Amino acid sequence: MRRDPESAPYARGGEPLGEAGATAGLWWPEAGICPSPNHDARPFGVEPELIVIHAISLPPGDFGGPFIAQLFTNTLDPQRHPFFAEIAHLRVSAHVVIGRDGRATQFVPFDERAWHAGASCWNGRADCNDFSIGIELEGCDDRPFTEAQYAVLVRLIRWLRGRFPRLAAEAAIAGHSDIAPGRKTDPGPHFDWAYLAGQLKGDSTA
Ligand SMILES: [Zn+2]
Repeated sequence: MRRDPESAPYARGGEPLGEAGATAGLWWPEAGICPSPNHDARPFGVEPELIVIHAISLPPGDFGGPFIAQLFTNTLDPQRHPFFAEIAHLRVSAHVVIGRDGRATQFVPFDERAWHAGASCWNGRADCNDFSIGIELEGCDDRPFTEAQYAVLVRLIRWLRGRFPRLAAEAAIAGHSDIAPGRKTDPGPHFDWAYLAGQLKGDSTA
């Protein structure tokens, strides 16, 4: 089954789950947990080899609300905002959302396929959800991201590289706009790729 959607979210403080079964799979210990039903299995034998950086804010330009988490858990009220009416039907998710304050919330275990990339292509391979990890930063096209967000993003990438060796290649990080050009603009012109690369310098194997 493939529903694919795209972009998605951010959430505020996930809550640890009581039921062990609900948290099966690989979760980042630093993140709160807010499980999304919007995921499925990766193709057999496929491991993550790409990190996709996204940005989202709901409503666009507003920070700190519960709406990204609601979008990712199919509980967004379409009547709450005109934009929500356009997107509430989407079945989307990301693995992790990093809020403006650096708080990370995980929606999908890394070994499962989150629905964040939509129609996409990387190095000639389509359907990037199959082999990628989607990280959403709460943000928008016209404001810089926060120091706290970069710090948490760097810690998360390092942790992921320790578990999925193919992610250690420097080229294994792309923006949503890189894999869906013409269709997506996130993470946008304010995402500082050079700063991220500098923070990760020395970590890469390629
Ligand atoms: Zn995106």
